[in-house]
Amino acid sequence: MRRTALHAALSTRALGVARVEGRVDDVRQDDDGVAAAGLRARWLIAADGLHSPVRRRLGLDLPPRRPARYGVRRHFAVAPWTDLVEVHWAPDAEAYVTPVAPDAVGVALLFARPAPGGFEPLLARFPRLAERLGAPATPPLGAGPFEQRVRRRVAGRVLLVGDAAGYLDPLTGEGVRLGLAQARALVRCLVAGRPLAYEHAWRRLARRYWLLTDGLLRLRRSPLRRALVPTLRACPWLFDLALDQLAR
Ligand SMILES: Cc1cc2nc3c(=O)[nH]c(=O)nc-3n(C[C@H](O)[C@H](O)[C@H](O)COP(=O)(O)OP(=O)(O)OC[C@H]3O[C@@H](n4cnc5c(N)ncnc54)[C@H](O)[C@@H]3O)c2cc1C
Repeated sequence: MRRTALHAALSTRALGVARVEGRVDDVRQDDDGVAAAGLRARWLIAADGLHSPVRRRLGLDLPPRRPARYGVRRHFAVAPWTDLVEVHWAPDAEAYVTPVAPDAVGVALLFARPAPGGFEPLLARFPRLAERLGAPATPPLGAGPFEQRVRRRVAGRVLLVGDAAGYLDPLTGEGVRLGLAQARALVRCLVAGRPLAYEHAWRRLARRYWLLTDGLLRLRRSPLRRALVPTLRACPWLFDLALDQLAR
């Protein structure tokens, strides 16, 4: 489904929650609470994305370890030709094609070296895919560099969740599920009065994602990458096993 539909559904379920629109610029905390965007509360949960301004402000960023990767996504007004997610490979880039509605597919391009000119030259690396797509239905939106290493997820009364808490790469299609699982763990820790336990819970939740994604990124750069699809085709159980590990 479109991310907008997921957000609308989540908002409908957030009963009893007061929503205040604002931008967090400064964060001040003391022993009893934390103040940001004109509000004061006992805790601040920063879910402010890949390049989390709150994380940066608290000095929790660590330098990346891997070559930078970027992504850009766009929807196309065309009926999906399959109910599966397709992954197309090109040197230095992948295209993830997702059926999102009866009349729309999403295309996410992930790449190591940006081509000048934006989305179109990148899509041109996948001529068979480009042929199938009709008119674009949304403007291209980009993100990256993806790898975000974080010193720790709990800094006094501020806790990081989602991409803000650390991220590697979307090539396994992970992100939203991880963020939701982290949010559940975080709330449990706060309700139990054990905020510091969230760090351990986060590491447990992120471990499989981090290992598998890191492994695939290494494989992507190695000469063995050509063997990946034929191997998975010959051993579908191996593919099922990898997916199963991610989904746990
Ligand atoms: C091309 C691409 C394809 C992807 N495909 C998938 C996929 O198929 N499946 C999947 O699960 N994940 C996918 N991901 C990853 C997924 O998008 C992210 O993991 C997910 O969006 C992270 O959610 P989040 O809420 O942590 O951060 P975000 O979705 O980035 O939300 C952060 C929010 O914080 C707000 N914000 C930022 N700064 C401030 C501030 N100072 N004050 C107030 N608000 C602020 C922003 O406006 C934004 O609304 C993909 C990512 C990319 C780039």
